[in-house]
Amino acid sequence: MSPIASKNVAVIGAGAAGLIAAHELRQEGHKVVVFERENQVGGTWGYAPATESDPLGLDPNRNVIHSSLYASLRTNLPREVMGFRAYPFVEKKGAHRDPRRFPGHEEVLEYLKDFASDFGVCEMARFGTEVWQVGLMENGKWKVRSRKRGENDDQEKLDEIFDAVVVCNGHYTEPRPAEIPGIEGWPGKQIHSHNYRVPEPFRDQVVVLIGNAASANDISREIAKVAKEVHIASRSVQNDTLGKLAGYDNIWLHSVIESVHGDGSVAFKEGTVICADTILHCTGYKYHFPFLETNGIVTVDDNRVGPLYKHIFPPALAPWLSFVGLPWKVVPFPLCEFQSKWIAGILCGRISLPSPDQMMANVEAFYSSMEASSIPKRYTHNMAAYQFEYDDWLAAQAGCLLTEEWRKQMYFESSMRKRARPETYRDQWEDEHLISQARDDFLKYLS
Ligand code: FAD
Repeated sequence: MSPIASKNVAVIGAGAAGLIAAHELRQEGHKVVVFERENQVGGTWGYAPATESDPLGLDPNRNVIHSSLYASLRTNLPREVMGFRAYPFVEKKGAHRDPRRFPGHEEVLEYLKDFASDFGVCEMARFGTEVWQVGLMENGKWKVRSRKRGENDDQEKLDEIFDAVVVCNGHYTEPRPAEIPGIEGWPGKQIHSHNYRVPEPFRDQVVVLIGNAASANDISREIAKVAKEVHIASRSVQNDTLGKLAGYDNIWLHSVIESVHGDGSVAFKEGTVICADTILHCTGYKYHFPFLETNGIVTVDDNRVGPLYKHIFPPALAPWLSFVGLPWKVVPFPLCEFQSKWIAGILCGRISLPSPDQMMANVEAFYSSMEASSIPKRYTHNMAAYQFEYDDWLAAQAGCLLTEEWRKQMYFESSMRKRARPETYRDQWEDEHLISQARDDFLKYLS
């Protein structure tokens, strides 16, 4: 690669990942076009009251709604931890602003809009423009085919050539429901949390909710306010916590569902049997890149996007194809920021990558280590155990400051509070000393 070269780069998506990628790419002198299907920035943070025609989200012909947010959603991270490093997520004054430390989703959207406007990202974006195909050309460049959303197939589609493509299309839109023995004959309703907005439709019902991640915790407690009974089925529930959930009259914890039956019954592995109206799958999402054609070089196999060096570059196509924001169980905004800095620096030749063979060997070693530890493939991008090491590795490569100590500590402390007190962790805390360290740190970015 020639040193310090500017490239034509297509960024797909203007959610948090696409916004920071576009900003970092431009900082390094690249020419950037951001393609965004919706009419605004913010991606998943653009709450949509409407739901899809298929509540389970399996019908490929359904009206796809991008956002998976529910109306009452507040962040599950404190704002100091959550924000981009170069653009702290601080309280803003204004009639429609939410000053809470764990604000509602509207405030996150406002923050991302502020970021896009203050850093001029909207100037690089084409809104209402869907990328329907990204294909590798013989000369190694990429043909990006886009169309204005809502137009029919006869209308003009635009084909453009780019040196590099950065995929930032998000991964919380394509539901991955649980597989339940007997479900074909079960007469009740099923819905995935992607299509959950408000609790009212569950009034007086008996609901089985599968899952125990952040959304499952919020939604089960919210539904319990109107439902007759809520039964949580979870892989990770301990035997000594099975039964009624402390502090609630109508929430029960169970192990996984063993089977469901034509009479409406749901049998859990520990032996309990109940009759339910609805099964609500809070079971996560699939990575999905319907527009991407790489001649089989990049695949999604049991939710592993691979092979990817450091969860970003397919070795055979590096650095001309990259993915931002794939890791989960992380603090996404700063992680995307580190990833984007690294990609932008590599594309201009300031930072170099190992050879494709070396990258591939690294990926294979990673997959082998997962296998040796019996970690399922679908956890490939789960970074719960090492996100900050990963961030710091990227920071060292990109030549920027490592993750702040206060941010790590605040993240760990708030995660513990979330587990111990899911009802109150957003409004009661004891880490004032970390908040003041964060605020001191933010001064260097806030002029
Ligand atoms: P998205 O925000 O999904 O953006 C992707 C963008 O790509 C979208 O705008 C979409 O329209 C566009 N796009 C997709 N395909 C195309 C195409 N073919 N052509 C053109 N455009 C396309 N994170 C936190 O930090 N704190 C939280 O509290 C938190 N809570 C969450 C709660 C829920 C219920 C969910 C689902 C996620 C939560 N997250 C949270 C994670 C959240 O997803 C990330 O914070 C972040 O918003 C991900 O950004 P992204 O840009 O990767 O994806």
